Amino acid sequence: MGDRDIPIEGQLSPQARERSQQPRNYGCLKSFDGHARITGPCGDTMEFWIRMNAAHIAEVQFTTTGCGPSRACGSMATELAIGKPPVEAACIEQADILAALGGLPEDSEHCALLAANTLKAAIEDLGNGKSCDSHACGTCSSTTCSSQQRRPNESDEDFQRRQALGRRMCQIGQKLLVLSGKGGVGKSTVAANLAGALAQAGKRVGLLDIDVHGPSIPRMMGVEKGLAKWNEDGILPVKISDNLAVMSIAFFLQSDREPVICRGPRKHGMIHQFLADVDWGPLDYLVVDSPPGTGDEPLSVAQLVGSPAGALIVTTPQDVAIADVRRCVTFCGEISLPILGIIENMSGFACPKCGETIDLFKRDGGVSLAQEMDLPLLGQIPIDPGIVVAGDTGESAFGNNGHTAIDKPFADIVASILANGS
Ligand code: ADP
Repeated sequence: MGDRDIPIEGQLSPQARERSQQPRNYGCLKSFDGHARITGPCGDTMEFWIRMNAAHIAEVQFTTTGCGPSRACGSMATELAIGKPPVEAACIEQADILAALGGLPEDSEHCALLAANTLKAAIEDLGNGKSCDSHACGTCSSTTCSSQQRRPNESDEDFQRRQALGRRMCQIGQKLLVLSGKGGVGKSTVAANLAGALAQAGKRVGLLDIDVHGPSIPRMMGVEKGLAKWNEDGILPVKISDNLAVMSIAFFLQSDREPVICRGPRKHGMIHQFLADVDWGPLDYLVVDSPPGTGDEPLSVAQLVGSPAGALIVTTPQDVAIADVRRCVTFCGEISLPILGIIENMSGFACPKCGETIDLFKRDGGVSLAQEMDLPLLGQIPIDPGIVVAGDTGESAFGNNGHTAIDKPFADIVASILANGS
């Protein structure tokens, strides 16, 4: 995500802005029938993968090294092509992409031409079927996959590490970074239940716990006794279901009394290793639970995952939490990490006996913060005693019988993520 995103975002139409921040169909396809990569005169490289179903285009995915308008154009080109016969999709022109996006600033219109040309080239390539497994995916050139080219003065070791990271990241559709300005607001709870809700919506989901000082995800997901295992492709995440897997620093500890003592550069290295070595396979979403605050870990993750990525900021309604979240919002702005929205947790307590709502921590602080910061409020999760019990016993509270108080807010959050994402 480059600096160029910042001034130009305000000039984009709503359609273009949405796709520039959360491009649909982003990332490479593991198996495909047609592929092309083109570097335009502007220096941006775009890459398209196409998978056919009988006579129609079933899936198109893309990556780009370019900034917002480039992502918007690539994404719109994929949307226009899906479901069409190749001859028809090959007729998609620069003007069609621009029209569907509601236009672009003049100096970004070339991005639509690059998207149209790369799509056409991938269509021409149909029939030369190949598959891109996690080792062979050297064709990718997404923000992280542009790691395929060596940087000046880069050592062999650093180059290989960057390539490994790029290969993994280009198999992941959208990375969701769950952040909070302070601890104890329910960030891990939200991350765990969000991952569960996305998986229940049929998405392939990975849940990565990088809270090196207090990893709580394994307990919440009922895999506290899990230990890291390796195969020749990397570290194997612990499976919760067919489409939901978890990886946590806790799986590398011999006991839950073992502290993790590491500082800045070592933490960055550890997070790099997690991101590069965990063999998730293709994912629609990687949900990352970072430690609270705006320190090393969220910074490392945001720098390493590449795009598309977005932050979900969790807060409680009281003023002190709101002040911390404000810092978190500023942090995201400084590192150009798009904020998908705010989630207000512990938002009122519905008495199970009389049904009356008690506002233990005030109410609607997240609402006013969202308004003040001009950010969407994705949901308000009430206090549910069932969450505490489920968290401690290792059940997912979401979708579990008897936890209806949180099912609807999480389903709504997922619906808005899906509506804006893939
Ligand atoms: P954080 O990751 O922000 O430190 P956690 O997710 O670990 O916070 O939550 C802290 C505690 O609050 C946990 O015991 C958790 O079960 C509880 N909790 C979080 N959200 C809720 C909620 N909506 N209702 C009831 N308990 C909650």
